[in-house]
Amino acid sequence: MNLLVTGTPGVGKTVISKMLAQKFNLKYVNEKDFALKNSIGSFNDENELEIPIKEFERLANEFLKENKNVVFDGHTLCEMKLNVDKVILLRVNPDDLELRLENRGYSTEKCWDNLFCEGIDYCKKHVLKNYSKSKLIEINSNFNEKLTFLELLAKL
Ligand code: ADP
Repeated sequence: MNLLVTGTPGVGKTVISKMLAQKFNLKYVNEKDFALKNSIGSFNDENELEIPIKEFERLANEFLKENKNVVFDGHTLCEMKLNVDKVILLRVNPDDLELRLENRGYSTEKCWDNLFCEGIDYCKKHVLKNYSKSKLIEINSNFNEKLTFLELLAKL
């Protein structure tokens, strides 16, 4: 089983992906680590890695051909077509998201960018463009990590 976990930064992708990796014995792959390992992408003025979508997609699909039982974690993944069995889209309400991003020390501008992204369903729109509806599992991560995970397991 190959899974993809996506959503706006702060929705809980990393936490949930690692729980999935542990539960199903999957190899955990973070998009940024994967890009750096494959020497793709470049850092912008804010020191964020900008990932070239098509190049990442090609390399990730090659990786998925050779590696079964993988969970990919990343925000940018919603913009690609990866050969996975399920796409897990995490959502969170704006107040909780704002708090999580502030706790991370994000600037006000960066918080607003991400809140905007969540508010306009940026990831969901891309996921629906790139994957069939039957692959999509949408989960809210508003309460706590264990509850979110249990809800997800019931839908997998
Ligand atoms: P992402 O990988 O999407 O950027 P993280 O997994 O790093 O997000 O989680 C961001 C923050 O939200 C962390 O402080 C984490 O403990 C918290 N968090 C993650 N999932 C949940 C959840 N389901 N309910 C409440 N808080 C969560």
